[in-house]
Amino acid sequence: MKKILLACGLGLCSTLAQTQSVDFSSSPQFSVPEIGSGVGLLDQQKERAIGEKVYREVHRQLPVTENPWMEDRLLSVFTHILSQTQLNQPVGLLLINDPQINAFAVPGGLFALNAGLINSARNMDEVAGVMAHEIAHVSQRHYSRSQEAFKGQGLLSLAGILVGALVASQADGDVGAAVMMGSQAALMDKQLTYSRNQEREADRIGMQYMYRAGYNPQSMADFFEVMHRSTSRVSFLPDFWLTHPLTTERMSEARLRANQLPQVKTSLVDQDFEILRWYSRVLSGQATELQLNAMVAQKNYAAELALVSLHIKQGDFSAAQKLLNEAAKQNASHALFTILQTDVLLGQNKTADAVNAVKSSAIIMPENRALNYKYAEALIRNKEYAQAQLILQRFLQANPRDLSGWRLMLQMADADKDASFRSVNVLRYRAEVEYWGGDEERAIKSLLQAQRIAKDSKSLSAKIKQRVDEMQNERKLKI
Ligand SMILES: [Zn+2]
Repeated sequence: MKKILLACGLGLCSTLAQTQSVDFSSSPQFSVPEIGSGVGLLDQQKERAIGEKVYREVHRQLPVTENPWMEDRLLSVFTHILSQTQLNQPVGLLLINDPQINAFAVPGGLFALNAGLINSARNMDEVAGVMAHEIAHVSQRHYSRSQEAFKGQGLLSLAGILVGALVASQADGDVGAAVMMGSQAALMDKQLTYSRNQEREADRIGMQYMYRAGYNPQSMADFFEVMHRSTSRVSFLPDFWLTHPLTTERMSEARLRANQLPQVKTSLVDQDFEILRWYSRVLSGQATELQLNAMVAQKNYAAELALVSLHIKQGDFSAAQKLLNEAAKQNASHALFTILQTDVLLGQNKTADAVNAVKSSAIIMPENRALNYKYAEALIRNKEYAQAQLILQRFLQANPRDLSGWRLMLQMADADKDASFRSVNVLRYRAEVEYWGGDEERAIKSLLQAQRIAKDSKSLSAKIKQRVDEMQNERKLKI
């Protein structure tokens, strides 16, 4: 009860006020149970370190799709739901190229989801329902069987078990093998599955979060049915059911609960989600050219953009351009349109045109990472390094974990042959790419090499030394 009042005090009740006065606090079904004393600053730092560690592990061990446009579309939904809780802002969001429907969140605010989840959902509300369920597991600290475990290494080792189990494709460990055999009992033995009560609590509280964030709670019940029907596909990751056992009881409870809430409209045709879903299907190899062509014949804009991205993937830039000209008749200002147009021009080595294609959109929306990274990429290819660096540094200062940003920094330093300290900077940025990509050892080696080359510059070598120390400390976290 206290949590809800506190949330209201922070001004998070605006969504509640807009709806037909639902008093959560008077309904026992919607009370958030107390979970013991608050989390201190040290714990918060520890959680962040764990979130970052898992971020690196996932990059190292799983097929991550790096795509700023998709990441940020989904991250904004995740952040919005997270703001309904007392949890900190997220470390990041990772897209895993896996056809199975699955998602997980870890303490410290890392969220990972499979392409299969986006590919199977019918609207963003259904994705939001899964996110909210995962967030509820974290906010209720279900990953920790006791407060004691949370204080020490328990949390860290749990994150380790989680990642270990995710690597089912490398089924050498027995958890991996258990996942391959679909043995829930073995997972339970490793304390990986949530208990039946925890599942129900995550459904109940998750639905409350998504509703407060303005999403349709019916979508959670809808998506349970989609998942229930979905057949298991070959996967790197364990099925959602293995870690979150779904019972018919849970399904009907979700529907019942959603029916008790005031109706929230989901637009029947959500073009932006359709664009996201077909684009994801192409990136994850789950859409065929035949399928897309049939939809393009019906002038389906989402399919047009998806087919453009498929042509780009195949290196057929003239077919991509032809289709972009068609799509432009419907909408030439969608961010993904601009990104794909820039990619086509870069593919044709028309670097000045590429800069012009993205420049104005990027400048108008300085907070849009996908547009600005594409702009930076075009600038680098067009040898406008200083301008590219300003953009990249702005985003990396806000989020120093951003692998896509470091990759572009590396590309820039490598291309700028006349820059001073070029080889030092190439090594420094490469170290960040290696580090956030999960190869901590190689990252430290790259930095030590940079430090040797930079030994005549006191300030630069001190800066590098500080970063080496940081990496070495964080590397000691064993999961
Ligand atoms: Zn669950």
